[in-house]
Amino acid sequence: MRNRSNLYKTMLYSPPNKRWNEQTADPSKYPQGRFNPKPCRRCSTVFIPKAPSNLYCSQECSDHAWTTAYLKRTYDIDYDHYLSMLAEQSGVCALCGGEGFKMAGHHRLKLVVDHCHKTGRIRGLLCHNCNRALGLLHDDTDVIRKAIGYLEGETSIRKGSGPKRAKAQGPR
Ligand SMILES: [Zn+2]
Ligand SMILES: [Zn+2]
Repeated sequence: MRNRSNLYKTMLYSPPNKRWNEQTADPSKYPQGRFNPKPCRRCSTVFIPKAPSNLYCSQECSDHAWTTAYLKRTYDIDYDHYLSMLAEQSGVCALCGGEGFKMAGHHRLKLVVDHCHKTGRIRGLLCHNCNRALGLLHDDTDVIRKAIGYLEGETSIRKGSGPKRAKAQGPR
């Protein structure tokens, strides 16, 4: 449960300043008067940067690199690792089977990396709701088991003596 709110604040998967296609500069303001071709830091494709700060050949490479940087910083995994986990889960949340959703426009990932806060071990990818649900139940299997028992108990009560029936049998 600890640091879960911080997690959302740091869930940036794109450059916090400018998007890749907005990183432009005027070559005439630089001594050489042009920007020389250079290899993309991710895929090594040689490209002509639109500004000296351009390190990647495309939005895709930029997003991939930023997402990897975020995942490395937070969970010590890279984006390819994330994508292989996603493939293992058939692209859906490990709990509810939903495809998940982005919390904000600058996010790249629909499922969050769920990890054990005690051991740091990565458990799987969850949608924001399932991840929050576990957190709200303190990642506590006893509480979650009780919650299941509670829900099942309520179901069996509803079958035999639901509110309607109780009313019908009430005082005359
Ligand atoms: Zn590239
Ligand atoms: Zn879910």
